[in-house]
This record gives sequence, C-alpha cells and structure tokens, in this order.
Amino acid sequence: MADKPIATALQDVLSRMKQAAEKANRTHPVRLVAVSKTKPVEALQEAYEAGQRVFGENYVQEMLDKAPALPADIQWHFIGHLQSNKVKAVVESVPNLAMVETVDSTKLADKLNKAVEAYSGRTTPLAVMVQWVNTSGEESKYGVEPSECVALARHIVQNCPKLRLAGLMTIGMPDYSSRPENFTCLAACRDAVAADLLGLGLADPAHSLELSMGMSGDFEQAIEMGATNIRVGSTIFGAREYKPKSPPASPPKQ
Ligand SMILES: *Cc1c(COP(=O)(O)O)cnc(C)c1O
Repeated sequence: MADKPIATALQDVLSRMKQAAEKANRTHPVRLVAVSKTKPVEALQEAYEAGQRVFGENYVQEMLDKAPALPADIQWHFIGHLQSNKVKAVVESVPNLAMVETVDSTKLADKLNKAVEAYSGRTTPLAVMVQWVNTSGEESKYGVEPSECVALARHIVQNCPKLRLAGLMTIGMPDYSSRPENFTCLAACRDAVAADLLGLGLADPAHSLELSMGMSGDFEQAIEMGATNIRVGSTIFGAREYKPKSPPASPPKQ
C-alpha cells in the first residue's frame, strides 16, 4: 500500500492529538514536531504547505542542508546527538533554530551558550531541553540519568544566560521504545527540576517547564501523560529508508 499523502497524514496526527488531549482533559497546548530526518526537502515543503511550521532533525549536516532551502519561518528543533565540534555550525547556519532538545552535559550547554553569545545574528536566547534517558542498568551513550537532571538544569539556568531552559526530553529507552514508566519518570524529573529552581528563587513555575516525549508509536499516550511537545516522524512522512553503509551483499546464487 502506498503511503498516505503527507498533508492527509499530518491532519490525521493533529486530530489524534486533539482526541488524546480531550480524552485526558488536557488543556495545555501540545506542539507537534514533524521529524523529517532522511526525508527530502520536497517532503518538508509539502508538510509546510499543509500548515506545519515546526520540524525536527537528528543529523547536523541534514539540517544545514535543508534549512536554507526552506522558508525562514520554520522553527527547527535539533533532536539528535550534538557533538561539541558541530555546535558553532548549527547556531550560525540555522538562524531559525528554535530549540536544541538534546542537551546532555554541562560541557554541551556551555558550548551552546558561548556559540549563541558569539553569533551576532541571534538576539534571543536559544531554547534547550535536558535530555533524560532511562538506562535501567544498560549502557547508554547519550542523555543524563534521572538523578543528574536537576544539576544539569540548574547549571543551565545559573550559568548559561544565552540559553532558556524550556523543559525535559526523552526518547524513552536506549532502543527508542517507551514505557509508561518512562513518561511518569520524566514528569517526576520535571517536577524535581521545577522545585529545585523555585527553591533557589530561579523559577519558572512548574507548569512552564515542558515535557518532550512521545513518537509515532506512543504520542497519544504521551499526551495523556502530560507531553507538551511530541516528535512524530514516520506517521507523517512514511517509513524511513536508511542508506546502507556498505554495498548490499550480492544475492545468493540460485
Ligand atoms: C526519529 C525520531 C523520532 C520520530 O520517530 P518516529 O517513530 O518515526 O515517529 C522522534 N524523536 C527522535 C529523537 C528521533 O530520533
């Protein structure tokens, strides 16, 4: 079966979001980030023409390639692992970068803060989220443990005046699957961060810190559990085809 047209798929997601919010009596707005990694500029343009303005990319080079080819009123969210040596390029080449959702160290926060400070093309603080990960004892490369969220959030608020702490983000488990406990835990971390900042006189009341959680497979549940920012890719743009890193093996001989 062919994929649905992007505009139709987008409308479906928006109406499912609305239903999920109504079901759970959620009245706060929920932002849809259309995750366009691996998809061509034409696909993003189609979503843009259907009214979508917020797009998420995982790879720096892809965002640098696409942003200049698309309208300037798009709000770009960076949602992948950001290497320190790419920070300057992201900040300076994407003036409409709205948010980096994946800050997972004080070092990265400091780099971003410096880059925004040094770049004269940007006059507003850059919104960032602390990326949380549930390692459950497994090895995980990116994201901070729940116990470290408060310290990283506090560091951003106290030491990074060019950044605005927008909230907390998770992709769920290291393998990108989510469980309800992940959503509950992220909300608990958000509350702990909010209480800490309030205690220091630095708040941001609790309700203003966002929760970025929920993807194609679980965004309705995430909304029911308090998400304010969901990141949906394949349900809007169709399944992703990754380019193989090496040539495919030759087919078996008949
Ligand atoms: C790819 C990706 C998504 C979207 O995943 P889908 O399952 O295609 O909706 C969301 N968040 C992050 C961080 C991603 O890398």
